[in-house]
Amino acid sequence: MKDSLHLSADELASLAVSGEEAPEHVNGCDQCTAALAELRDLVGTLSALPKPPERLIDAAKAYYRKRRALDALIEKLAEDPALRAALRANPTKVIKAAGLEPSSELIKALTDDERRSGALAERIAAKGLWL
Ligand SMILES: [Zn+2]
Repeated sequence: MKDSLHLSADELASLAVSGEEAPEHVNGCDQCTAALAELRDLVGTLSALPKPPERLIDAAKAYYRKRRALDALIEKLAEDPALRAALRANPTKVIKAAGLEPSSELIKALTDDERRSGALAERIAAKGLWL
């Protein structure tokens, strides 16, 4: 129920880029608050680059989608031994099925045992943006 009220990647990216005030829901939702804070940081970083991406909003959306997909995959891997086995057998297939680009860095990070922390997820997602 509450999930359906979460802001979409589009809405979050628009808010982060425009600097507009967030809607009511965000104030009461840790998940949307955290996502928006992260996207605002990202937009700040991108804007400060010597050559900021032409479509900041697209970059923010792509980052957010990738971030959510990666979080979901890491969560599933933690809960599902069969998926961990599938990842070891065929990392490219599992990563693609999660909607992510199976870069060699991501494969290495995910198949390195016991290092699937939130911090790892952030580093991978941040790196993925520049690829
Ligand atoms: Zn929410």
